Amino acid sequence: MTRPLNIALLGATGSIGRQTLDVIDRNPGRFKLFGLTEGTRSSNRKAEFVVRGQAGEPGFDADVVTMVTDPRCDLVVVAIPGARALRPAMSALGAGKEIALATKEVLVMAGALVMKAAGERGIRPIDSEHSAIWQCLWGEERENVRRLIITASGGPFWAHPDIDLGQVTVEQALNHPRWSMGPKVTVDSATLMNKGLELIEAHHLFGIALDAISVCIHPQSVVHSLVEFTDGSLKAQLGRPDMRLPIAVALAYPDRLPDAVPPTTIREISGLEFHELDESRFPSVGLAREAAVAGRGRPAVLNAANEEAVRSFLARELPFSGILPAVRRALDAFPGGGDTLEDILEADRWTRDYLRNKSGTLRPT
Ligand code: MG
Repeated sequence: MTRPLNIALLGATGSIGRQTLDVIDRNPGRFKLFGLTEGTRSSNRKAEFVVRGQAGEPGFDADVVTMVTDPRCDLVVVAIPGARALRPAMSALGAGKEIALATKEVLVMAGALVMKAAGERGIRPIDSEHSAIWQCLWGEERENVRRLIITASGGPFWAHPDIDLGQVTVEQALNHPRWSMGPKVTVDSATLMNKGLELIEAHHLFGIALDAISVCIHPQSVVHSLVEFTDGSLKAQLGRPDMRLPIAVALAYPDRLPDAVPPTTIREISGLEFHELDESRFPSVGLAREAAVAGRGRPAVLNAANEEAVRSFLARELPFSGILPAVRRALDAFPGGGDTLEDILEADRWTRDYLRNKSGTLRPT
């Protein structure tokens, strides 16, 4: 029998990290926790490497490089939230490792560099929509793909057009109707910026033009995304909203993990609805597409401005309705940068300085 796959888990204590540990624990013959990183909370796990601290802190990045470049490490799961995951992900790719990526920001910021570093290996997506598209594309020729359709639940406010977005509380924004996720991505689901970021993520992962990727509202979150082919055929991947499935798909690829999640019942897939996205009400997808087309560091600005604005909203400093205007202001003010890793990290720093230091920029207006 072959030995278990040695997995390094970057970000073991977040929502995806904990669910990844669950998938590993339930398949001891197949997977082994080789190493992990954890922030302020402890995962109480034993592994060959346990790295504590935050990405970007002195010592942390060096220890992560040692862990992910160890010849015994087979697969690196990147689940550190936000922009801080970029350097560790690039280190793993630079060492020739397979990576399973939960942190979409890595591809939003530096998709071209990341996909180049991944080369033929590609990236195994953990984001549920991208896992769905990935699975729909298995065995298909890329030239036969016409369009990708990313599904969005719509978040807590889509079904309530009368709600005053200026008065939305943190508690209301964190009350996602379908998925249980970390606070940042839950707020991104409420603004639909999550779909803007996912559009850029899909563009890089699958090499599909930005204008051939659209978003539709599907409140039940059963169809995780769709692919349209040149013959007019549509393929979709369905299942209950449970992140352990995309995690299992990414870890076990190209196999299927038996009983990764309970089977979906017919009752659960009845009454599915799909609606066009009203971009005038939720401008975030258009904003993201614009930033990606303009390039030159702007996707990194979009991402950093959104992270800062969401942080400020969660700290009750900025109203919910102030999040997208803050992102727009940063994009408008950005002078334009380059496409190297250092340029992208500089665009990220510029944005955070701009929004934190320019007086009033992140305050309610
Ligand atoms: Mg997603």
